[in-house]
Amino acid sequence: MIIGLPREQEINENRVGLTPDNVKELINDGHQVIVEHQAGLKSGFNDEAYQAAGATLVEEVAKVWAAEMVVKVKKPLKEEYAYFHKGLILFTYLHLAADSDLAQALLDNEVTCIAYETMVDKGTLPLLKPMSEVAGRMAVQIGAHLLEKNHGGPCILLGGVPGVKRANVTIIGGGVVGFNSAKLACGLGANVTIIDLNPQRLAKIEHTLGCPVQTLISNEANIHESVVNSDLVIGSVLVAGRRTPILVKEDTIQQMKSGSVLIDVAVDQGGNFETTHETTHSEPTYVIHGVTHYAVSNIPGAVPQTATIALTNASLFYTKEIANKGIIQAAKDNHTILTGINTYQGHITNLAVSESQDREF
Ligand code: NAD
Repeated sequence: MIIGLPREQEINENRVGLTPDNVKELINDGHQVIVEHQAGLKSGFNDEAYQAAGATLVEEVAKVWAAEMVVKVKKPLKEEYAYFHKGLILFTYLHLAADSDLAQALLDNEVTCIAYETMVDKGTLPLLKPMSEVAGRMAVQIGAHLLEKNHGGPCILLGGVPGVKRANVTIIGGGVVGFNSAKLACGLGANVTIIDLNPQRLAKIEHTLGCPVQTLISNEANIHESVVNSDLVIGSVLVAGRRTPILVKEDTIQQMKSGSVLIDVAVDQGGNFETTHETTHSEPTYVIHGVTHYAVSNIPGAVPQTATIALTNASLFYTKEIANKGIIQAAKDNHTILTGINTYQGHITNLAVSESQDREF
């Protein structure tokens, strides 16, 4: 199969869909890989590395999109719709439910789209998990910096030192993001509290984290008390397919210590704090009631090399299945690939996407 790797066009998107090592594996399987000039540069992979792996480097993006399969990170932008063609397989994060123009362009051109975010493996989302792992760990790293004097913080070191108190960290939502935040915060020596609705999840965290944390069941009183006594609070609740509930009210935030930090990782689903509004890597923070808020919706974009390798570690197996077998046989053999197919031969093939788009399934 001929596989195309374009450079991401979205501002501040520095990841890339395939690493040079991935390209080498695909070429070893008998495929041809066409890479756009500088596609991997912002993730730390230069053109020479792709060339050494056997890729064909091109300047013209149209040549990349002329491939049989295009592997990307983010959904195509409007200026890329002109490259769609009948039978093209597009493997990427797509988020089609909210983008009617993109859906129309994909259907008109009979593009087969496999969306990373709808792929399900035994109840888990294998291509969302790596980004949650990165974001969870980053949240603590960012929080630690925002607690420093230079960033307007209360001048606190997360882990303290002998004879000096540790910082209090509350993590609301003990899923993939929350677990990874807890792992890092614990490792740095902070006092960590994790709040979740699911008692089994809390028990599992206690057993597997490898360091002592306070677990609490999620209710208004526990959240209020823990948040007002915290230096750093991380919001990482997800209710699949819905807007995240607002679990920390403005009244609670008003009672936090001046200089405390809120990191709303769940901002991409609406956010867990009443005072959250989305921010960007170029202007990541704002202050309300003396509390620093950070609400960047693509946190992994700050560490594109780690994020690209984490994503492609998880996606390459499926890329190879599709390239080696073709989409029909790959979907028959692998249910996770089947769950990823959002469009096929001019039809929406994902129920949730068709309902959100009010289009026929
Ligand atoms: P997850 O499904 O693994 O975890 C969500 C957790 O929330 C679950 O443990 C669930 O029991 C818990 N929960 C649900 N309702 C709750 C409530 N009322 N109180 C307390 N806990 C509750 O999800 P995840 O992969 O950890 O992702 C968490 C959020 O982070 C999502 O919104 C995701 O989209 C977002 N995310 C953002 C970024 C970013 O860059 N900002 C990156 C990755 C993920």
